[in-house]
This record gives sequence, C-alpha cells and structure tokens, in this order.
Amino acid sequence: MSGGAKTLDMERGRKRYATAEDSEAAKKAAPPIMQRSRAQIATSYAPGVLMTWEGGRGICKSVPIKMPFSQRLPRNVSDTIFEGVREFAESWKERAREGCPNAPDEFILDDAFYDLATKEVRINQTDFVLNQPNVVGYVPYPLLFQCGECGTVREYKSVAELADRKLPARCKDHESRWTQVDVVYAHWYGTIEPLSPYNYTFDDRTGTTRQITHCTCGWQHFTLKNSAPVFSEWKYVCEGCGTPRDLKKAERHVLQRLKSDSSQAGGRTFEWIEIDMLPVSYRASSAFYPQRASFIELRETKVVELMRTTHTDELLRKLAEIHSIPYQEPSDTEIESILANAGRQEDWEEYASLRKMFLKRAEAAPDRADLGNAMRKLREGWFDEGLLERGRLQSEAIEIAVGIRKDWARKFDPIRLTIEHAAFVEEHIQDGETGVRKTAVDVLNPDITLMEKAGVAGELKRYQSDIKDVFGKTGISHMYLLRSLPICEYSFGYTRGKRQAEAIQPT
Ligand SMILES: [Zn+2]
Ligand SMILES: [Zn+2]
Repeated sequence: MSGGAKTLDMERGRKRYATAEDSEAAKKAAPPIMQRSRAQIATSYAPGVLMTWEGGRGICKSVPIKMPFSQRLPRNVSDTIFEGVREFAESWKERAREGCPNAPDEFILDDAFYDLATKEVRINQTDFVLNQPNVVGYVPYPLLFQCGECGTVREYKSVAELADRKLPARCKDHESRWTQVDVVYAHWYGTIEPLSPYNYTFDDRTGTTRQITHCTCGWQHFTLKNSAPVFSEWKYVCEGCGTPRDLKKAERHVLQRLKSDSSQAGGRTFEWIEIDMLPVSYRASSAFYPQRASFIELRETKVVELMRTTHTDELLRKLAEIHSIPYQEPSDTEIESILANAGRQEDWEEYASLRKMFLKRAEAAPDRADLGNAMRKLREGWFDEGLLERGRLQSEAIEIAVGIRKDWARKFDPIRLTIEHAAFVEEHIQDGETGVRKTAVDVLNPDITLMEKAGVAGELKRYQSDIKDVFGKTGISHMYLLRSLPICEYSFGYTRGKRQAEAIQPT
C-alpha cells in the first residue's frame, strides 16, 4: 500500500565520506535507476506492476520498498484512507460475487482484505504500512526467454538462478538472440505467471498440484510458435517429438481447490475456463490495474466518526443543525428528573461531572476524547435501557435518507456529501478567509495578488458588478478561490482487470 500526497521527508542517513575506489565499486554494484514522479510511482509503477525498463531494455516487476512516514499521519486522514480501501474491497467482493456466484471468497479477495473465519471484508490497519511513494524497487520478470532465431524458450525460477546459469551464447547451430517473452498468463484469482510451456496437474493420490516439466516423450525443451496475430493460434512445439500443444496453463490454487471440491460427495463440477489462466500482454490492464483514490483533507475527525452506523443519532443532530431543521430531544432538566425518578440520580451526577471536565478545554486536552466517549456511553445506555426516548428530527425525508445510506456508493452518498461539504466550508472557506494565511479568497472581494486594482475603489466596484452579473446568469451565489488545498491521493493494491466484466468473465 502506498500512501499520501503529504510530503513528510524521511530522516536522512548520516553522510559518509567515500573514497574514490569505494564509489567506483558502488557504481558498478548498484543497479540502474529510473527517475519517476511520486504520482507515477503510486500508480503506473506501483508494486506488482509489470513495466518496461527505460529504452525498452527489458521487462521488470515493481516490488515495494518500505518508506514509512516519519510522523504518523493525522488520524482522520488515515481513517479516511482505510475506510476507502475497505469500501472498495467490499464492493469488489459484491461485484465478483454477482458475476461468479460459486467462487469461494478467497478467490475474490486477498487475506489482507478478508477474514476467512467470519467471511467478512476486514481491513485491519495494523496489517498495512502507509508508505510514501518516493521509491520503488524492481526485479527482471518474467524470466522466460525466447531465442529470436529459432523460437526455443528457456525459463528460470529466480534471478539468482539466471545469474548462476546464464543464457547460452550459442543456441543449437546458431548464435542465440534471447529476449523476454512479453506475454504472460493472468488469472482473475490474482496470479500472474510467465508464459511457460509447463502446465500444472492435480494428483488425486496426494490431493495436491504439481508442475509437469517435460513432454510425454520425456523431452524438456519447447519452441514457441508465436507469429500468429491471435493468442489462440500460438503453439508450443516439443523439440523432441514435434508434438504441438495449445497455450494452456492452470492456476494452481484454483485447480487444487476446485478439483478437491469436485471430488467430494455432492461437490460441484467445474469448467476449465474457471481454472485456466489466459495469455495477455504484460501491459494489459488485466495484468495490473492499480486502485487509487483521493479526498480533500479535513482536520475534523467527526466526519469519519459520524458516518459510522453507531453514530446515527449524532449524525441526525448534525444534519438538523446544517439544514436548520428543529431536532427534538429531551432537555437536561427532563433527563435529570426521569433519572431521579428511576433511582438513577448518581448516573446524572456522573454525567454532569464528566461534561464539566470535558468542557474545560484548556486542561487535560489529550483526555478529551476519552471523556467524550465515556459521556456518550453513559447517555446511550439510558436510551438503550428505554429510560429515555430518543430525540426526533423534524424531517422524515432526512431520517429516511440516513436509513438508506448503506445503499449508496460512498462517493455519491448525499448524507456524507452534506456532512463533508459542511466541514469543508467551515475549514477551508470560512477559516481560510479569516486565517493568517488567507487561503480562501472570495471572488467578489479579490485580494491584491489576484487583482492588481483591488485597492482602487472604482475599479473594484465595476469588477464586482460585472461578476455579479455573470453569477446571476449562471445561478452561482458564492465563489471562492482556494490556495494550497490539502488533497490526499493514495493507491492501495490492484485488481486484474479494470472493470468487473473483464476481471471475472474472461473470454
Ligand atoms: Zn535459437
Ligand atoms: Zn515430445
């Protein structure tokens, strides 16, 4: 997971004065570097992507390098990020479930997003590292090479094996010309594998899968016939017996699971299209489709809190405030007397003293959240016990809208947008206008940096009347220009395929 548009510089290591030989040796040992922007690293070069090395010198897979923030991100920022991730995972699961009703959940989401025991989408913040997209590593991939002269292929399991057992300079009777095979196998389960000729098979006796690394004639080397324009016409030909075979490779986890399931009594049968991986270009979006999102940062942690289903009452109160709709709630005096009649005078005293402490903002500031929680718990308890009747919003339409919020995608949820907009206006417009840095400027009252003649009364008046005229025609009542609006952009993983249809219905 990569995080944030925030620039929080890492502490730099202590400078060391290297000798000339040292730096020469380091230069030789150091791998080549490409320079890319943070935005590119977070998306086009995010961990897991297959990318072309600069100048077309080969294909590599990007691998993460840990770059945690030196300071913790503000709670509301990290909460908003994880909430976005959770929501994406939830909706991905639903979409995949619609397309493939029989697929086991673990085929749809990785462990990090899913709890196998409870069968629920689960984002545990401690399972993730919020990483700065400053740097990313790479390894050569796929390690499947084809000789440009004769088409024979060689596969390596690892970079170490390749370094150890180099590609031969001569191939059969000619000088070899090795290049990476730029087509890979992809499966919506999440797997990417080189386009090697060695398929997997399921062993009934052991209940496991294994790879077959030779032809039925016993020979291990194959030639890839890939001159046809479509993958369906590509073939592997055994160099021993000349038998051709189609491109076919099972996803081994899916093979194992579906084979095992089908061999049980009453188990469901499967189709090979569910198991087989598909050849795709390493650049295809079905090979890697990064997930990303962005939001305007708000210091108000309340927005995230109010959106939780446990805070519906507070949400309704806030909406009443925003829309100036009356909200009926028992008054303090009513609550006190109801509690006293129920022999719960002590409860009220505890609540009153908690509130007293809570309101003393200057003192014990870090403890205020705890106090707030304690107050809420106590108060909610009275409602839950039925001692008190909950307050009511004098707008049925809004109450209903809050009730059906879960049916909205987060981005379009009108209730969330209302709350976010209110916080945005307060923090970025109202505070921005009055704050020292003047980050918000009313277009009707431009400052000198926006309009040279802002100080000349006559000019300003003429300008204002022109603008008001335009506003009137377009139906705009207020317009502000905002400087340095803090926007958090983040990326957090990938899917195979950019749309559900491509991802789950390979054809
Ligand atoms: Zn060759
Ligand atoms: Zn053969």
